[in-house]
Amino acid sequence: MSDEKFTRQRLLDVQTLTPSLFTLRTTRDQGFRFRAGQFARLGVAKADGSVVWRAYSMVSSPHDEFLDFFSIVVPGGEFTSELARLKAGDELLIDRQAFGYLTLDRFADGRDLWMLATGTGVAPFVSILQDFEAWERFERIFLVYSARHGQELAYRELIAGLEQREYLAEFAGKLRFIPCVSREDYPNALRGRITSLIENGALEAAAGTPLTPEHSRVMICGNPEMIDDTRKLLKGRDMQLSLSRRPGQVAVETYW
Ligand code: FAD
Repeated sequence: MSDEKFTRQRLLDVQTLTPSLFTLRTTRDQGFRFRAGQFARLGVAKADGSVVWRAYSMVSSPHDEFLDFFSIVVPGGEFTSELARLKAGDELLIDRQAFGYLTLDRFADGRDLWMLATGTGVAPFVSILQDFEAWERFERIFLVYSARHGQELAYRELIAGLEQREYLAEFAGKLRFIPCVSREDYPNALRGRITSLIENGALEAAAGTPLTPEHSRVMICGNPEMIDDTRKLLKGRDMQLSLSRRPGQVAVETYW
């Protein structure tokens, strides 16, 4: 085995969702292990031979044979300008080791699991939902996924099909998907940003369940401003970041 810190994988598929969002599937090294919710560093070789690395959450589940990722295209972005050029058959470097603490290990208990995502921040939650553990441990699961426009909401079919998967069928009825769209009215979606929808009570009304320190465990991922503002709102309701020395109700992953 090579002693490099990464492996060389192949792109199997690239799908464009919008001009600035795409999904990709790669081969997976047999030795690559991760917990649902974690991320790996991806590397792309530039024309001058140097390699650019960025953190990406796995979208696929730990038991899939392939790896799925969901990416933004940042105009002029050093990494995403390169990544967006790749096609099926091209090479992608992937760290041997997965990292990150946005996993269910962060919570010792809880009745309701809330997953709040903006944009590509939905990635770790799609991985968690394709794994067994969340469904087994929690009575109810709320996936709250916000985007500016409805068309930017990825993985809708996958999410809608989760409860029909054989290994999750016994948990059918636990998941409530709550899409939120901030810049247009969109069918079956709440209108607004996650923070406003918490402040005005619309999110809890849609869930039919209040956010409480006793029952709710909240994971938040994506845009740093949304994460800070949501953390403040939750703090006002006695919900704290969960740390190993002080178990709490909130876990976050900031993307930039
Ligand atoms: P950069 O120079 O890295 O970023 C330039 C600017 O683009 C940032 O300052 C920010 O304003 C904006 N930006 C960066 N990332 C995003 C984003 N995801 N959505 C909206 N705006 C953004 N990105 C993904 O697309 N998918 C992921 O699954 C993902 N997982 C991540 C996990 C972790 C733990 C971290 C820290 C970051 C993750 N990111 C993810 C962000 C990713 O690492 C890069 O920032 C992104 O690929 C842009 O790289 P860049 O070099 O093109 O631009």
